[in-house]
Amino acid sequence: MPKPPDDVRVASKAPLLGAHVSTAGGVDKAVDRAVTIGATAMQIFVKSNMQWFAPSPFAPAELRAFHEHAERAQVRTVFGHSGYMINLAATNPEFLEKSRRALCEELLRADQLGLPFLVLHPGAHMTAGIEAGLEKVITSLDAVFVAIPQVKTRIALENTAGQGSCLGCEFPHLAAILQNVREPERLCVCIDTAHLFASGYDITTGAGAEKVFRDFDGIVGRKHLAALHLNDSKTALGSRVDRHEHIGKGRIGLEGFRYFMTAPRFAKIPKVLETPKEKEMKEDVENLAVLRGLMKKTD
Ligand SMILES: [Zn+2]
Ligand SMILES: [Zn+2]
Repeated sequence: MPKPPDDVRVASKAPLLGAHVSTAGGVDKAVDRAVTIGATAMQIFVKSNMQWFAPSPFAPAELRAFHEHAERAQVRTVFGHSGYMINLAATNPEFLEKSRRALCEELLRADQLGLPFLVLHPGAHMTAGIEAGLEKVITSLDAVFVAIPQVKTRIALENTAGQGSCLGCEFPHLAAILQNVREPERLCVCIDTAHLFASGYDITTGAGAEKVFRDFDGIVGRKHLAALHLNDSKTALGSRVDRHEHIGKGRIGLEGFRYFMTAPRFAKIPKVLETPKEKEMKEDVENLAVLRGLMKKTD
C-alpha cells in the first residue's frame, strides 16, 4: 500500500477533538462549520432536536453533498446525538410508542450518513422508580433493535446529571442496560464530564478522575466507552443540575480536563464540546485551544 503524504500522517496523530455542530442549511454544512473551527471530530443532530419526526427523509442530493464533501476526511469522526423529546422509559403509552418510533427513524437517518453511533440519554422514569424505569428502557431498546435489524449505527448511552427522574446518572444504571438488552453489541457509552460532575463524581483532579474511571471500568467496562462530551460545569459537585460551562471556567477546572486530554486510555476516543456559543463559533475555537494546550508537557 502506498504511504500517505506527510501532512496526512501528522494529522492522524492529532487528537479526535471538536464540537457539536449545527446542520442548519443541510448536513454537509456541518462539515464546513467543523472545518472552520479546526475540528477533527464532530457531533450533529440527524434532524431538528425539538421535533418528534423529520418532515421528510434525507434528499439524495443532501446525502451526496455530505458524503462527497471535499473536506469530509478532515473531520475524521462524525457521530450523532438523538432528539431531546425521546424518553424510552415514558410512562404514558403514547409517548413511549412515539419515542421508540422516533429513535428508529433517527437511527435510520444516522445509518444513511454512515455514523458509527447515535448518543442517547437513557430516559426519565417519571414516577415509576429507577428499577422499573431501567426495565422499560431495556424493553424499548430491544424493540427498537428488532424493528431495524439492518441498521449498523449503534446507540451510545450517555450518562446524565440526574436531574429530576433522569436515569443514567450512576454507572450501575448504564451497566444494567448494557447487561440486559438482547443485542448488547449494538450499544456503547458516551461520558459527559459536566454530567459526571453534577451527578457526584469528583473529576477535579487527575487522581480523582482516575479513580472515577477505575470504577467505570469495573462497573460498566472500559471497552464500551465510545466518546466523551467535554463540558465544564456551572453547577456544584452532586448538584444534579445540568449547566454546561466553558472549559476551565466552571467547577471542574483545568486539572480535570488535563486528565481527559492526556490519559492514554482516551487517546483514540473522540471528544466534543457542547459548550455555549454564538453563530460564529469563536467560543469553540477558544475552548479547543485551551484543551490542546493541556496536552503540552508542563515540566
Ligand atoms: Zn452531553
Ligand atoms: Zn448536559
